[in-house]
Amino acid sequence: MVGIEITEKNDTVLALVLRDIPLEFANAIRRAALEEVLTMAIDYVVFYDNTTALSDEIIAHRIAMVPLRSDLAIDKYRRPEECRGSNPPEGCYVSLYLEAETGPQEELVIYSKDLKPQEDPEVVPVYGDIPLIKLGPQQRVVLEAWARLGRGREHIKWSPATVSVLTYIPNVRVITERCNLCRLCVERCPTKAISVVNDRIVVDSTKCNLCRQCVSVCEPEAIELDWEKDRYRLLIESSGSLKPERIFLEAVLQIKTKLLEFQRSFKEVFSGVGGGS
Ligand code: SF4
Ligand code: SF4
Repeated sequence: MVGIEITEKNDTVLALVLRDIPLEFANAIRRAALEEVLTMAIDYVVFYDNTTALSDEIIAHRIAMVPLRSDLAIDKYRRPEECRGSNPPEGCYVSLYLEAETGPQEELVIYSKDLKPQEDPEVVPVYGDIPLIKLGPQQRVVLEAWARLGRGREHIKWSPATVSVLTYIPNVRVITERCNLCRLCVERCPTKAISVVNDRIVVDSTKCNLCRQCVSVCEPEAIELDWEKDRYRLLIESSGSLKPERIFLEAVLQIKTKLLEFQRSFKEVFSGVGGGS
């Protein structure tokens, strides 16, 4: 039966063991976490003044990569497909404002916390300490940054996951009768997964990355290495825009939505075929 075991969870990291799930489906969740889950990000920037050393384009790019809080926004704002064109409807965009100026002897670093929300106090930078621009003496920048919902497949700035990886779960066995305790495997293992305890070789499979170096140095062929069937580790690390468990749930939801759309168009095609015969 399909099962999920949480092995690590905090504000930014979720590590799961997925049980009895085909590899293709587990991998679809991994990819959807990176590419399909909606988040807010700055889409365009209007400059009213910029006398800093950085061009408008560089500043706009830096601002766009700042993760924005999206947990409430994804239920509130319109989907990107509804916001295309030069005249998007209400509920697509939300703006943040930045204004800074230095005196004749002054220098100033502008941080992400200096981006002030205008309409929605919930859409703000997740981290306030990301340096954006350094102003020299007598420089000024005034801009308005407009954010909307998007998906990582459109641009990485909309991806809520900085890491989403799926790995096999190793199964390493040492055949004690063949082992001569030469310890070559202990020396070779790059992750220190192998140790000697009470004159026996012991393997911590959770540290193993399946590199097979222990197998390659073990002349008596005392090590057997494979991986568990239909069990995988999924690790999601969030940019902070969404909680990692929300990224996982939204990823599953996106796959479900796509399958339902696929089912609907499939039915339409076949009802057409049936009607004509
Ligand atoms: S390399 Fe093989 S024989 Fe040597 S200690 Fe490791 S398991 Fe035993
Ligand atoms: S496969 Fe690599 S990581 Fe795993 S136990 Fe062997 S040497 Fe260590």
